[in-house]
Amino acid sequence: MNKIKDSIAQYLKDKTLLKYFLYAVYIVITTGFLFSLMSNPSIRNFFSVIENKTFDVRQSLLAPYKRVNKDIVILSVDEESYEYLLGKYGEWPISRNIYADIITYLEKQHPAAIAFDLMFVKSLKSSNDADNKLAKNIAKYDNVFTSINFDNQSFDLRKPVDLPEALKANILNESNVNIKNDMLTFSNCRAIIDAILYTTPNIGHINLVRGEDGIARDLPPFVVYKDNYYPHLALKVALKYLEQKENLKIKDFKIDKYGNLLIGERTIPLTINGSAIINWYGPSGINSHNTFEYIPMWKAEKNIYEGTKLIPENYFKDKIVYIGTSATSLFDLKSVPTDRIFPGVEIHTTFVNNILDNNFIKRVPLWTDVLISLLLSLFVGLLVIRSESTVISSLAAILTGTIYAIAATAIMFWFNTWVGIIIQLASILLVFIACYLAKYILKSRDLEYTYALATTDGLTELYNHRYFQEQMLQNIETGKRYNKPFSLIMIDIDFFKKFNDTYGHQSGDAVLRQVAQILKKNVRSTDIVCRYGGEEMSIILTNTNNQDAITTAQKICNAVSEHPLKIVNGNEVKVTISLGVSTYPQDGMTPQDMIKYADDCLYAAKENGRNQVGNLAK
Ligand code: GH3
Ligand code: MG
Ligand code: MG
Repeated sequence: MNKIKDSIAQYLKDKTLLKYFLYAVYIVITTGFLFSLMSNPSIRNFFSVIENKTFDVRQSLLAPYKRVNKDIVILSVDEESYEYLLGKYGEWPISRNIYADIITYLEKQHPAAIAFDLMFVKSLKSSNDADNKLAKNIAKYDNVFTSINFDNQSFDLRKPVDLPEALKANILNESNVNIKNDMLTFSNCRAIIDAILYTTPNIGHINLVRGEDGIARDLPPFVVYKDNYYPHLALKVALKYLEQKENLKIKDFKIDKYGNLLIGERTIPLTINGSAIINWYGPSGINSHNTFEYIPMWKAEKNIYEGTKLIPENYFKDKIVYIGTSATSLFDLKSVPTDRIFPGVEIHTTFVNNILDNNFIKRVPLWTDVLISLLLSLFVGLLVIRSESTVISSLAAILTGTIYAIAATAIMFWFNTWVGIIIQLASILLVFIACYLAKYILKSRDLEYTYALATTDGLTELYNHRYFQEQMLQNIETGKRYNKPFSLIMIDIDFFKKFNDTYGHQSGDAVLRQVAQILKKNVRSTDIVCRYGGEEMSIILTNTNNQDAITTAQKICNAVSEHPLKIVNGNEVKVTISLGVSTYPQDGMTPQDMIKYADDCLYAAKENGRNQVGNLAK
């Protein structure tokens, strides 16, 4: 018992040990958390869903500071155009003649590329002549592109189409990137007009990947259909543009061992599922057309058929012209990180723009996030462990989290790199709470120990004199309030001076300790045994009347006199004690009076031959 107490005392005195304990708490908490994160897919998924939201917030904050490439123009069926065209032609979709004429009109100005984000699906309404005219015009120019869409469910009414060889892409994949991902593998193709499908290789897919929350954050450069790879429309359009601008010709694609899709000097980082994370520009979306240039379709239509000059001459020269819809009633609207109603066509132009500017977002691997979390939580852990002030360490932890979130946003802006925020903040919080609690618990134990130290006598482990005085006052208070008696026994060892002289002081100390234990054993646990001073001891017997106190005193007197005590040379000796008893309130109403009365009794015992409980002959 003594030894344990000593080692705790040692441990608590040694503040570096305390710190080691806190470091251990820190290590167990962080590694436990991060390990469970890495090993458990559902925990990882839980965090990645929240992490995606931080991506959206960061992208929304940063989008206004990014500039689009002004070579990309959207020729759009916006609200006004939709009303105008529907009014004029009386049907939707409008006749494909008009698109054929738009191609002719645009080609006169020598654009870099024309891309239809419109699918010319086989339609009962379609007139063969108009369809053929459009197909012929698409095939006539090698810079006109159109789109197909793949569906990832089998659809009985829509037989899988055989796509021409020319549409396939060859990919050399040296990485772990899984292009044949469930999300990107489709079994059916929405059939488009044969005359287009079999006359031009310039057809690309327009599929997207949506997160669990329905938000499109990344796009697949390729999808798999019947075991072949097909490139995205935007990829084909961007390559056409780069072919003219940079004389870049790519026939076969390569994904390097780091998972980057190589496009000349450009490296498009792919996720493990083979898609590219889009960097968004803005403010954008349906409500603010102030990034990509939007030209309303009705103006082009009037230029073509009415000879007006609503669009400046040669406006489309060298530009990428994306033809799509942005009218809400045409329903080609998606949710993206920066906007919940975002025109599909603008997702594709953003994809093209990311390719041209080589600024796709790269998501760092999990181990990087884990490493950052470890460093941050180590810092916060140290802060809590070292700081004396709770307020300062809390503020510092909050500040650390905030600065990190800002830094992560800046990194996304300057380096197009997505470092996580959520697991980092979660580990900061966890470590803060764990270290704080551990420290708090240790502190309170420290206090308990200090209190014990202040009330205990070092030699006998009995309560000390100060505590005795406190308890006397306390018991008088209680006695007064409840009108209950309590008693005091004063004890003095007989001939102890002589004992010391005979056996030495160390044996005297040993005897003091053993007598103390005998006293403790012979009273109730609610009684308070104290070392009054020197070889004098006192016992406060709570709730005990005079008669019972005298009985107890006698019992103690006998116990001590009968108990052999070990001294330092190994021999056993016996000592006797003299005792005096006083009881509240009959023998005194103050501690001084009670002590005096018991002392007088004790003196009487000494006078009367020692080894007895003394009484004052009345
Ligand atoms: P009496 O029977 O009259 O009480 O005789 P006594 O010799 O015990 O006389 P008194 O009580 O006056 O003597 C107290 C002695 O107890 C003095 C001192 O040598 C011894 N003593 C007091 N405190 C300690 C202690 O902590 N350790 C040891 N070994 N001896 C102590
Ligand atoms: Mg004495
Ligand atoms: Mg004595």
